[in-house]
Amino acid sequence: MYKLASREGAASTVVRVGNAAFGDGSFTMIAGPCAIESRAQIDLTAKFVASAGALMVRGGAYKPRTSPYAFQGLGEEGVKLIADACRSAGVPAVVEALAETQLLVLEWYVDMIQIGARNMQNFTLLQAAARTGKPVLLKRAPFATLDEVLYAAEYILLEGNPNVVLCERGVRGFDPQTRNLFDLGGALRLKELTHLPVIADPSHATGRASLIEPLVLAAAAAGLDGAIVEVHPEPPTALSDAAQALDFDTFAKMMRKLDVLRGAAEAKPRLAACK
Ligand code: PEP
Ligand code: MN
Repeated sequence: MYKLASREGAASTVVRVGNAAFGDGSFTMIAGPCAIESRAQIDLTAKFVASAGALMVRGGAYKPRTSPYAFQGLGEEGVKLIADACRSAGVPAVVEALAETQLLVLEWYVDMIQIGARNMQNFTLLQAAARTGKPVLLKRAPFATLDEVLYAAEYILLEGNPNVVLCERGVRGFDPQTRNLFDLGGALRLKELTHLPVIADPSHATGRASLIEPLVLAAAAAGLDGAIVEVHPEPPTALSDAAQALDFDTFAKMMRKLDVLRGAAEAKPRLAACK
């Protein structure tokens, strides 16, 4: 059985990345493009999402594409671009590592390392990412049970790195109408099983921009610790995952609705106290 990841007898873990906190009762938004495409694209996006309330920026530099002919990401150049963009925007960056050889660059330039769904059980990569000392965003594989997610997290914790954020990004279903099945029940069960924070990725879970806002609101209402969503200055031109990217306007509107929802949640105890 996993030991270090288990909720039993443990206080909830709060993972801090710059001003962003996961697990402290807040709902923390990470936003940015699927892939870093150019200096202008990542600069503009980082600045915009930060101004709209995102506390972290995402962007892929090493992309795990199903087809080897699809855009593979800008690599090290992309990592440097997101580091510059985030420094100007005043927010930390999270970038995915596909291989151990990329960790040296990521460790130097970014604030959090993402282990993507496809690598959730790449145990040597998990251990190497843990040893960078950076917080790790660990995504659930589309085929993984919750116990398997927690065993994967245990590999990181066992290296002495306590800063792990788990992410539900959909499991493989049978209906192509959504890219994956967003398992909100599973994410909530995960929070019962572990003291680690759990966030939602409705972008990769559904593959549809129209479903991002309602699922972000559902995740926040249900008590998850945050969300990671894809945002692009011009979604139809995105080099990857165009159909699920939010434009700036839609992202800003979603953030305002989230504020209203969070405000209502915080107002509840005050209303109860008036009775
Ligand atoms: C991503 O976040 O860029 C990504 C590839 O996600 P996932 O690993 O969940 O497919
Ligand atoms: Mn993507």
